[in-house]
Amino acid sequence: MDLHPLLERQLRRLGLDAASGPTDVERWTQLLHGVGRAYREAEQDRYLLERAQDISSRELHAQAEQLRLNEARLASLLGLSTDWVWEQDKQHTVTYVSEGWEAATGLRPSVFLGTGWLSLDRLDAADEVKLEYRRCVGQRLPFRDLTVGMDTPRGKRFFRLAGQPLLDDQGEFVGYRGVGSDATEATLASRRAEQMARFDTLTNLPNRNMLNDALRRALARARRQGTRVAVAFIDLDGFKHINDNLGHAAGDELLRVMAQRLEQTARAGELVARLGGDEFVMVVENAGPQPALVAMGKRVIEVLGTPVRLQDRDFRISGSVGMSVFPQDAEDGPTMLRNADAAMYEAKKSGAGQLNFYTADLATRAAESFSLETELREALARDELVLHYQPKFRLSGGALAGVEALVRWQHPQRGLLAPGDFIPLAEQRGLILPIGRWVMAAACRQMRAWKDAGREVGHCAVNLSAHHFTSEHLVEEVVAALARSDVAASALEIEVTESAVMIDPARAHRVMTRLSDLGVRIAIDDFGTGHSSLAYLKRFPARTLKIDRSFVRGLPDDANDIAITQAVVAMARSLGLETVAEGVETPAQLEYLRRIGCDEAQGYLLGRPVAAAALAWEPLTLLSAPCGTV
Ligand code: C2E
Ligand code: MG
Ligand code: MG
Repeated sequence: MDLHPLLERQLRRLGLDAASGPTDVERWTQLLHGVGRAYREAEQDRYLLERAQDISSRELHAQAEQLRLNEARLASLLGLSTDWVWEQDKQHTVTYVSEGWEAATGLRPSVFLGTGWLSLDRLDAADEVKLEYRRCVGQRLPFRDLTVGMDTPRGKRFFRLAGQPLLDDQGEFVGYRGVGSDATEATLASRRAEQMARFDTLTNLPNRNMLNDALRRALARARRQGTRVAVAFIDLDGFKHINDNLGHAAGDELLRVMAQRLEQTARAGELVARLGGDEFVMVVENAGPQPALVAMGKRVIEVLGTPVRLQDRDFRISGSVGMSVFPQDAEDGPTMLRNADAAMYEAKKSGAGQLNFYTADLATRAAESFSLETELREALARDELVLHYQPKFRLSGGALAGVEALVRWQHPQRGLLAPGDFIPLAEQRGLILPIGRWVMAAACRQMRAWKDAGREVGHCAVNLSAHHFTSEHLVEEVVAALARSDVAASALEIEVTESAVMIDPARAHRVMTRLSDLGVRIAIDDFGTGHSSLAYLKRFPARTLKIDRSFVRGLPDDANDIAITQAVVAMARSLGLETVAEGVETPAQLEYLRRIGCDEAQGYLLGRPVAAAALAWEPLTLLSAPCGTV
């Protein structure tokens, strides 16, 4: 019989095995008890075992549930934010990117999978950022706050990356895991703030701060390398006019156009900045010798001088340029700028669109101008201005055709100052309008006085600056001045230069037409020195051209001057305009002008500008002589 060994042992112990003799009930009962106990114990064991198994599976289940919950929580949190999780392997190849990535950038994760984050050409990361990333991954260090930009279907986006190295059970490096988050708004805001701190918001040119930094660095480099640095200070000549008359929007537009032109003329190593208002600065590193700088300055003046279209009209706004050069003119940035400014100011004095270099005596002159300005403000009140009159004669017959009123300043200390000493200053500092009003009134009073004294002087010419044509008030002022002294409009002539007309031709045209309709004569002064053509000027109601004395000077020998004066006289005649030659100093000039048919002449030869009382009245005998006898 094949019995379980335990049962066999029990049977043997109780003497119930086959080898033993007859059995008794007692022993069988004992056996059955033993077997029953064994069953019970086994049952107990099985119960305990089953119970234990049950418990562990429930625990497992609970743990799994917990994991699921955690994952769901993470996923829902990730889903809530625009952040995403990424992983990369040992070779820094991206192996996983969570969904948030696509939500943030609109790009599929596949764009990055299998590539390295910062090896992608599409990433726009500062060099420091790339270096920091390489340093960290090279040493397997955690990194954070690395901001990189990228062009995405949603435009330029920026994101911030943080990561930490991953190690396996044996502590071996297996890659990186980290988070990425969208940082577009923050980055753009800080870039804007940076931009605003360093760039001018209107023109996008570097502003004063950036200019100062750049200039300091340029000077430091030049000092080390023994090179030169030039600073060009640029000021627009007609800006105020545009701003005052066309409004700030047009003024802004003008500044933007000019800024763009300047930037386009700048070459490598040249920086263009806007200081504010209508002031710009160019910094030229490795500046060449003087002629090269002159060429650069001319280039600037030329680009600024081409017409600008504003509100469907063309305006000619020139720029004045002053330059200072390191190391000869100044050692530091602020002094360079100040000196270039002084040079520019001096350039302005000689008219619009001029270039001037700093010289040592400019500084003292600039200081002088300052005190002169204060004094000039008082000069009007103290009645220190006086008018001198210079006669103009008919070239045929020699009759007195008229006089030109030329202002002088009887300065209490400096004596009699010529207009060149204070008119440019007055134009610069907003004093030209009151001066013009004074001149107009004084000339009218003088005409009345002559008339009352029974003296015939023909018409009287008054010079006006460009600023006077910036407002239509001029017409009312002229009418009022004539009325106050009871002088006929036909007795007044207004001289205006070509460049004054060209700043705002449309308005100048309107003002001149109104004046001309009143009977006031209009003359174009200094003709030939501006940019305009005679054909263009013909559209203006001028009746006289005053040939600039720089062309008269070379007569009758200089071929150029001959060609110019002849052409001007011939063209003026064909257009029905009168010609007046200015600055006639020699009989030969006079004779030549008469021969080519110039109508009138004015100059030291015929009469210097003098006080009203000293004016000569007789027709010049010089001129009454027949042609060819001078
Ligand atoms: P402009 O209107 O062309 O005046 C002629 C200038 O040439 C005057 O200089 C006159 O003295 C000078 N001149 C006349 N004949 C001769 C000559 O034979 N040889 C030489 N070398 N020069 C001669 P001035 O008086 O110094 O005036 C200079 C400029 O100042 C004037 O040039 C005019 O543009 C301006 N100006 C004069 N008075 C006024 C004024 O009341 N208002 C304004 N806005 N400008 C004025
Ligand atoms: Mg004049
Ligand atoms: Mg003149």
